Amino acid sequence: MSLLFPALHTASSHTALRFGDRALSYHQLAAAASSLAARLDPASRVAVWATSGPETAVAVVAALLAGVPAVPVNPKSGESELAHIIGDSGPSLLLAEPGAPLPEPLAGLPRIETDLTDDEGGADPGSAWRLPPEPNAGSAALIVYTSGTTGPPKGVVLSRRAISSNLDALEDAWQWTADDVLVHALPLFHVHGLVLGLLGPLRRGGTLRHLGHFTPEGVTAELSSGGTMLFGVPTMYHRLAEACGSDPDLVAALAGARVLVSGSAALPAHDHERLTAATGKRVIERYGMTETLMNTSVRVDGEDISPPGTVGVPLRDVDIRLMDDTGERVAAEDTETVGELQVRGPNLFTEYLNRPDATSEAFDGGWFRTGDMATRATGGSFRIVGRRATDLIKSGGFKIGAGEIENVLLGHPMVAEVAVTGEPDDDLGERVVAWIVPVHPQSPPAERELADMVAGQLAPHKRPRVVRYLDALPRNDMGKILKRDLPEGG
Ligand code: ATP
Ligand code: MG
Repeated sequence: MSLLFPALHTASSHTALRFGDRALSYHQLAAAASSLAARLDPASRVAVWATSGPETAVAVVAALLAGVPAVPVNPKSGESELAHIIGDSGPSLLLAEPGAPLPEPLAGLPRIETDLTDDEGGADPGSAWRLPPEPNAGSAALIVYTSGTTGPPKGVVLSRRAISSNLDALEDAWQWTADDVLVHALPLFHVHGLVLGLLGPLRRGGTLRHLGHFTPEGVTAELSSGGTMLFGVPTMYHRLAEACGSDPDLVAALAGARVLVSGSAALPAHDHERLTAATGKRVIERYGMTETLMNTSVRVDGEDISPPGTVGVPLRDVDIRLMDDTGERVAAEDTETVGELQVRGPNLFTEYLNRPDATSEAFDGGWFRTGDMATRATGGSFRIVGRRATDLIKSGGFKIGAGEIENVLLGHPMVAEVAVTGEPDDDLGERVVAWIVPVHPQSPPAERELADMVAGQLAPHKRPRVVRYLDALPRNDMGKILKRDLPEGG
């Protein structure tokens, strides 16, 4: 049976993880995680208080070693979200760092504190330890809650097989090796930061350096001292693009990185272009979901075939079909028709926890319906148009993708942030509404000017009929825009 983390069995002194000035070698990680794993009841389910520290890494790895499904919990969850996640997943134990300020209902759970003081600092822990036998590949490894962008977060059950096969497909796409040092500041309770950003380096036998908090200065420091890969969400790349203008050290650090990867939401074309202009490097976009892990990516060995603005080609072993409104497959050479991305492969989740109806509704045969709409681009790549539920506006008989309009408006020098939505219109069915965060709130760009810009660059029917100005857009902890939280009717 293949091992999830071969490097834990070799347990070398190579650095596995570094969070600020706290580091664990593979040896130390194996020792700490195996001793914690030995204390877990294999029949239980554990919640992990997922702060951005080595305790979270040790707790998750211990649960994976023991074959105990782990539910990572956002320590900044609000009361109702926490109640929802804990009530839904029903853990019997909590793994948390010592002294974590635990709110109800977590405070009432039996708890093991992951105290690493004996394992850090480079000393050989000396104690005898042994890794438990590897659990079955089909068994539940993680229960990760979705980002809650379109509704209450759903518990997604992920098997060991889904995780290992997907991480190996990313190895193939990104030429990811044990020599890579990954830099990121992503939270450890979603797929991006946890599965890709933590388990990814561990599966390769490489290193993760976690920044704690994202800052362009932190990125510069880590990438210019051995970091080879950077993972980020578009809001981070936006800040990097802004900072590049006045920070030559950052430009040099980004230019020197092996791979820069963006995902979790669409990277605005404007930021993509600015980063390439400053650094000479292309940001690699990949597309995935909690339910599917990663589906597509631009490949580092084939950048020429995936045009900028696309999310690349299907990963190894992942099948993708694009289905039009009539339930027919969009032909491979058709680059016009918008269809829903549907996915099949070993990367798929097992089920939505406690939601058999939602699980069966999400599948068409063995194909998972992502709810994301896309067109094909040249070279077998896909261009994401947006979510069927919130980003596809049906206006005057046309189907208009919000992202395309957002990209144009972000090119306006006086526009800081944009969200485009549709709202009911007697005449058009839906009308295009642009929500604008101006660079200077006291002198926002005029409605007419913005509408003309869209009509001029795209097509007249895509012009926003209404422009509304806001101080900030509602976003979740991944920086995703929460369109459902925009003020109703302005
Ligand atoms: P919820 O399912 O709770 O509403 P969510 O869909 O945001 O939240 P995730 O599973 O974290 O939760 O996010 C997956 C979604 O993120 C995808 O379905 C897609 O809409 C979006 N996404 C991910 N990567 C990209 C990308 N590169 N470009 C555009 N959209 C992306
Ligand atoms: Mg979703």
